[in-house]
Amino acid sequence: MREFDIIGRIKARTGSMAGVRLGIGDDAAVLERGAFDLVALDTMVEGVHFRWGWSSAADVGWKLLARNLSDIAAMGGTSGPFLLSFALGEGVDGACVDGLVEGLEAAARAMVEARGEVGPIGGDTTRSPGPTVLSLTLFGRTGPRGPVTRRGAQAGDVVAVVGALGAAAAGLEVLQRGLEGVGRWAELVEAHRRPWAQVRAGAWLGRQEGVRAMIDVSDGFAQDLGHLLRPAGLGARVEFEALPSPAALRACAVELGAEGSRWVLAGGDDYALVVIAAAGRFEAIAAAAAGEGIELVSVGRVRSERGVEVVGAGGLQIAASLAGYEHTFEGGGEEG
Ligand code: ADP
Ligand code: MG
Repeated sequence: MREFDIIGRIKARTGSMAGVRLGIGDDAAVLERGAFDLVALDTMVEGVHFRWGWSSAADVGWKLLARNLSDIAAMGGTSGPFLLSFALGEGVDGACVDGLVEGLEAAARAMVEARGEVGPIGGDTTRSPGPTVLSLTLFGRTGPRGPVTRRGAQAGDVVAVVGALGAAAAGLEVLQRGLEGVGRWAELVEAHRRPWAQVRAGAWLGRQEGVRAMIDVSDGFAQDLGHLLRPAGLGARVEFEALPSPAALRACAVELGAEGSRWVLAGGDDYALVVIAAAGRFEAIAAAAAGEGIELVSVGRVRSERGVEVVGAGGLQIAASLAGYEHTFEGGGEEG
């Protein structure tokens, strides 16, 4: 298939988008001046982030957009147009490209309320002599309070989570063991194939006074929480039992004889949001969030001692420090 056909397929499916003056077809896309103030990029490499045998082309397209939607959400922003870079490996044909584009569209349809604002405005298409490498650059807009960065946590703040932890890692393990046909674990496999980015929650939280910092969970809860706290010389104490995870995960861990706590704490790719909120504001924010259908779960507190301490049921200390964690759980995910 020629590059020309690929671009034609993508172009045929795009419409007009807010903030975009000119989309696919010229030497560069033209944005309205001042329309966007956020930009994020994420790359997926065949064999590292996905396998054609475990995910359909549409699943891969979905995840490519979900990862970027999640980054913009974690800044408290809303998403806009995107650029695509496709370096396509040997076996990738027209049907596969159609599948990728369908997956991108399905993800925007499912996760973005103003979905007409999220779509491709350009990109680049080449052949790869090795694995397929897909990358997406997503533009976005901050809300009226500006960006919610990874900085801003203070000792005493509440650590909260939106979304479930560990399901994608559990689903990956089900796939690795060749058990994806087992119906009761379909929800976990789906979490790996089509992760849910907290698009609406991120934008909503970005508008709330008292939300001090956010990060999305791409590398694993403990590690990503560490990214948020370590630069400030802070740490946190987290209650393991408070961490939201699907019931199917626990049952699956028992049946497979796997360490479910490791999926929850170190599993990547769930795209839950970790939210740091001022303690005095947390109850009000959580109540207002519930009114919006957003479940903000308190899981612990920021403190001045470094490291993330996760306390399990019955006072079992699962990990004393985050540094310890990264060693204990190295190689836990497929992702880099
Ligand atoms: P150039 O040689 O100037 O880079 P291309 O032939 O690569 O031009 O691209 C032609 C047009 O198609 C450009 O507007 C470009 O942004 C767009 N395009 C190329 N590949 C993709 C892609 N994978 N997805 C979306 N748009 C693409
Ligand atoms: Mg080009």
